[in-house]
Amino acid sequence: MKAQTKIIAHRGFFQSSPPTTENSIQSLKNAQDLGIYGSEFDVRMTKDGKLVIHHDENHDEMEIAQTDFSKLKKSRLANGEKLPTLKKYLKQGREDEKLKLIVEIKPAKTPQLEEEIVKKTVEMVRKLRLENQCEFISFSLNICKEIKLLEPTFIVQYLNGDLSPQQLQEARLDGFDYHYKILLEKHPAWIQEAKNLGLITNSWTVNDPEIYQQLKNMGIGYVTTNIPEQLKNQ
Ligand code: MG
Repeated sequence: MKAQTKIIAHRGFFQSSPPTTENSIQSLKNAQDLGIYGSEFDVRMTKDGKLVIHHDENHDEMEIAQTDFSKLKKSRLANGEKLPTLKKYLKQGREDEKLKLIVEIKPAKTPQLEEEIVKKTVEMVRKLRLENQCEFISFSLNICKEIKLLEPTFIVQYLNGDLSPQQLQEARLDGFDYHYKILLEKHPAWIQEAKNLGLITNSWTVNDPEIYQQLKNMGIGYVTTNIPEQLKNQ
């Protein structure tokens, strides 16, 4: 019997009714109501070293990495919420221990900045005692490796699509979270190869039920999606 494919809400569940803003506290709350595996969100660091939840480099035309938090927080999200800090976001995540928190750490401009953001993120996860509820993803191989250096038991998946399952295992990572085209078109053998090595298989951003079916038929472990409510019932 095939294992069930698990669903992760991409940037929370924001295509809800009514819709809300991605990476907002409300989008996380919406994901908590779905009974799915996890909810993903993006971590960035402000100029003065504060960790915030936001996908794009810019928040309201201010570059997050070049702006202090006190200035950034004056601009609210589209749904009226304040720009969430990692601490506030994780505290909301703690409200439902069954929903995994999939922490994407965004690449920074230097390896030093990446080390700092990883260190601060891991410290916050430990401080809030969320070690068993968090999993980590990044496009930066350096960030993935830094997380593993600080805490080898943390689950870390690589996003960038350029390493084979064998290479991921050699880098001591736990698996991949790759764009579906990499897995369906470029390297259709990778899902099975990864499973044979005991690696996690995850794919983003699967917003088409047909693509979901294809990946499911290939035995994918997880998909990350903007339509978690729809896919969870398939
Ligand atoms: Mg992300």
